[in-house]
Amino acid sequence: MAIRNIREIGDPVLNKNCKEVKEITDRTKELINDMFDTMYDAEGVGLAAPQVGILKRIVVIDVTGDSPLLLINPVILETSGEQTGYEGCLSVPGKSGVVTRPNYVRVKAYDEELKPFELEGTELLARAICHELEHLDGHLYVERVEGDLVNTSDLYEEEEDEE
Ligand code: ZN
Repeated sequence: MAIRNIREIGDPVLNKNCKEVKEITDRTKELINDMFDTMYDAEGVGLAAPQVGILKRIVVIDVTGDSPLLLINPVILETSGEQTGYEGCLSVPGKSGVVTRPNYVRVKAYDEELKPFELEGTELLARAICHELEHLDGHLYVERVEGDLVNTSDLYEEEEDEE
């Protein structure tokens, strides 16, 4: 188990285009394992390779805590609907912002043997897929935020007040 250093907003590596994965080496497998470890350690629902400083088109996602997904060279095939809600990013620690995303996405990606597969997601999974895939093209969700970024801790306090 190895936790890698998560790059934060302002680090130029987060604004670069990632390269396609053409072969899976031992180093690629180690990277994938470390990305899962790093995501779970940071209690995130997704992590893209550039967030640990590697410019490869690899994304890990787990929106439930026990449904790990690995997407290599992912491409969005179809989107529909709309959802608007708060979103955060491990590279923008402590902050959240409102972003509108599709409510459904269908992606094509490759697994650890570079075999192609398709995946559908709705709601949080659709949001996570869209968010993580943008990292591979050098974009952060803050570019899309409607209104201001807020402190995530304030957000939770507001939710508690409503109860
Ligand atoms: Zn992110």
